[in-house]
Amino acid sequence: IFITLEGPDGAGKTTVVNELSQLLMNDINREVVTTREPGGIPIAEQIRQVILDPKNIEMDERTEALLYAAARRQHLVQKVLPSLKEGKLVLCDRFIDSSIAYQGVGREIGKAAVQNINDFAIEGHYPDLTIYLDVPSEVGLERINRGRKESELDRLDNESLDFHKKVRSAYLELVKEHSERIVLVDTEDNIEKVVKNCYDLIKDKYPS
Ligand code: C5P
Ligand code: MG
Repeated sequence: IFITLEGPDGAGKTTVVNELSQLLMNDINREVVTTREPGGIPIAEQIRQVILDPKNIEMDERTEALLYAAARRQHLVQKVLPSLKEGKLVLCDRFIDSSIAYQGVGREIGKAAVQNINDFAIEGHYPDLTIYLDVPSEVGLERINRGRKESELDRLDNESLDFHKKVRSAYLELVKEHSERIVLVDTEDNIEKVVKNCYDLIKDKYPS
């Protein structure tokens, strides 16, 4: 069983993935593998460092999209597929929908172009279930910036709000387009409730 968690920055994905995997490990009849993208294995973690290095300001957005797809490919082949073959449940923080939303729409490369390079990378290996954690852009940004200094917050200009909004609307569109695979979970509830909702979704679909 291949399950992915998606959402804009500040949706709480990482926290939810970690708590969810604890819950599942305690009662599902199979091993649970928790992983993330970009990363999850050494080669992909190295690619992640290149993508996220703030010094790489000259990175072209298509180069970035290709690197995400490359990291995805290696992680899929080296970790996800072998784990699925062994009957494990793979819980992955981000997958293809992130690229469609961030690079396709956020960075304005276009959904079709990003879909194409990702088709090449994943060869039809879509998740069985994708949980999209939804958060309004202002709330998401507020969550990421909590704890940061006022001076840093000055740099939080309209550009990041605009980008966040594009990413979120792309996700909402994906939920409509792939309603058979992607389920929306609202994150304005407290974290325990969000985790419980995700857990119930998975248990409904995979009771044992
Ligand atoms: O998932 P995580 O929060 O660790 O992502 C790290 C950073 O990479 C975030 O700032 C996210 O916005 C960005 N990202 C991106 N495009 C993706 C996936 C992540 O810009 N496809
Ligand atoms: Mg995270």
